[in-house]
Amino acid sequence: MSYGLSAAAFGGAFSTATRPAWRSAVPARCSLAAADSVSAAAPILRDLQMKCATPLPVLRHVADALAADMRAGLAADGGGELKMILTYVDSLPTGNEAGLFYGLDLGGTNFRVLRVHLGGKEKRLLDTEFEQVSIPQELMCGTTEELFDFIASGLAKFVQKEKDKFGPPKGREREIGFTFSFPVKQTSIDSGILIKWTKGFAVSGTVRRDVVACLNEALKRQGLDMRVSALVNDTVSTLAGARYWDDNVMVAVILGTGTNACYIESVDAIPKLQGSTYQSGKTIINTEWGAFSNGLPLTEYDRAMDCESINPGEQIFEKTISGMYLGEIVRRVLQKMAEVSTMFGDSFPQKLSVPFVLRTPDLCKMQQDDTKDLNEVEFILSDALGVKSSCLGSRRIVTDVCDTIVKRGGRLAGAGIVGILQKLEQDFKGSIFGRRTVVAMDGGLYEHYPQYRSHLKEAVTELLGEEVSKNVIIEHTKDGSGIGAALLAAANSKYST
Ligand code: ADP
Ligand code: MG
Repeated sequence: MSYGLSAAAFGGAFSTATRPAWRSAVPARCSLAAADSVSAAAPILRDLQMKCATPLPVLRHVADALAADMRAGLAADGGGELKMILTYVDSLPTGNEAGLFYGLDLGGTNFRVLRVHLGGKEKRLLDTEFEQVSIPQELMCGTTEELFDFIASGLAKFVQKEKDKFGPPKGREREIGFTFSFPVKQTSIDSGILIKWTKGFAVSGTVRRDVVACLNEALKRQGLDMRVSALVNDTVSTLAGARYWDDNVMVAVILGTGTNACYIESVDAIPKLQGSTYQSGKTIINTEWGAFSNGLPLTEYDRAMDCESINPGEQIFEKTISGMYLGEIVRRVLQKMAEVSTMFGDSFPQKLSVPFVLRTPDLCKMQQDDTKDLNEVEFILSDALGVKSSCLGSRRIVTDVCDTIVKRGGRLAGAGIVGILQKLEQDFKGSIFGRRTVVAMDGGLYEHYPQYRSHLKEAVTELLGEEVSKNVIIEHTKDGSGIGAALLAAANSKYST
C-alpha cells in the first residue's frame, strides 16, 4: 500500500543527480540488432496510442457524462459518482476585506502557511509572507495527533518569527482559513468530517472526525492563540483567491499531485440543499471530480495500477489525469515493453519494476529534450530506471509513450472543464458562453508541464469551437489558494459585524 506514498513524497522535486560527462558523447545510432529489439516494442506503442486516443466523440461523451453526473450529485447525496459537496460559502471575496489573516494549506506533498495583511478595496494586499514545509513520509501514514501536531508546530514557528507589529488586535485570536484538500463532508463553514484520505495519505483515526477540531486541539496543545474560521478545499480557496481580482472567475481546477474542481452554483440549482438559507443566492460546489469514471479510455496499465493502489476502483479520473499517476502509467508501459523486447539492453533494468520510480516531472523533462540524440531521455532512463544502454529508437519510443499518456490526461482534463461549463450554460443560456468566463487553474502539473497545458487547452477549443472558446479564459492563478483561504477566513471572521 505504501507505493502511493513514495510518489507523493517525491512528487515536487527533480532528481539532483548530475549527468555523467561521458554520456552525451556516446554515439546514439541504432545498430541492426537494436532496431530489431525496438521493433518488438512498436506494436505495444501502437496499441497504447489506439486505446488512449481521445477524438472529439470521446471528449464529448466525457463532458456530457460529467455534466449529467454533476446534476445527479446535486439532486441527492450519493446520486452519482461526483459528490458535489456543499462548501457553506455564502460570500465570495469582494475586495473590501481588511486586517490580518492566515492561510494554512494541507494538500499533498507539502503544507504551506501564509499571512496576509489586507488593506481593503483601494490598497488590497499590503503584505503577504509564506513558508512551506514538506510532510515527512512517515507522518502520512502515522496517527492523527502526530500529523496535526506537526502542522501546529510549523504554524507556531511561523508566528514566532513575526515582529510585534503583525500581532492581532488585543483580545483577538489569529484567524486561519484552513485549506484541506481531501474529501470532507462539510457541516458548516468552519467544520467538516473527513470522508477518506486520498493521494497516498493513510493517517489513522481521522476518517469520520472533524478536521477543524483536530487542528484546533493541536493548536491548543501548542499554546497558540489561533483558530480556524473557514475550512475549505484547495479548489475553493483557489476560486476565492482568483475571484478577489476578477469577477468573471466561475470555476477553479487543481491539477497537481491529485485533481479536483469547484465552481459557483446558484442555490436554486441544488435540490439537495432543501431549505437551507443562503443570503447571496450563490455558493461554491466542490465537485470532487477525481471520482469520475464514466466513459474514460482506459488501458490494462491503468487497471493494473488501480488494482494495486490503496483505493482500488476509486478516483479513476484522478488516476488518469493527475501528476501522481502519469509517471507511473508510463513506467508500467515501459516495463511491458522491456519484458518483450531488448530495447533497454539485454538484461532487464531492475529499477523499472519498482512502482512510482518514474515521476511525472521526469516525463516533463524528457518531453522538453530537444537534443538530436535525446540525451536528456537517455540520462533519465539511466538515472531513474537504471537503464544501462538505450539506442535513439528506444528513446523515441519512450517519448512517444510519455506523449500518449500526457496527451490523454490533458485532453480529458479539458473535457472535464467543458463538462462543468456546459452544465452551467444549460441552466442559464448565455451566462457562460455568451460572456467572458474565467477558469482559474493551479497545481504543479498544470504549472510546470507545458505539453499537458497545451493538450488541455486544445481539447477545450475542439469541444467549444473557435468562437465560443474565445470567451473562455483558462488562466493560471499562482498561489491563489493561500490568499483565497485567508480571504475566506476574513469573510467569515468571528469578529466581523
Ligand atoms: P500538491 O498537489 O501536492 O498540493 P503541487 O500543486 O505543487 O502540490 O503539485 C505537485 C505535483 O505536480 C507533483 O506531484 C507532480 O506530479 C507535479 N509536478 C511538479 N513539478 C512538475 C514538473 N516539472 N513537471 C510535471 N509535473 C510536475
Ligand atoms: Mg495543492
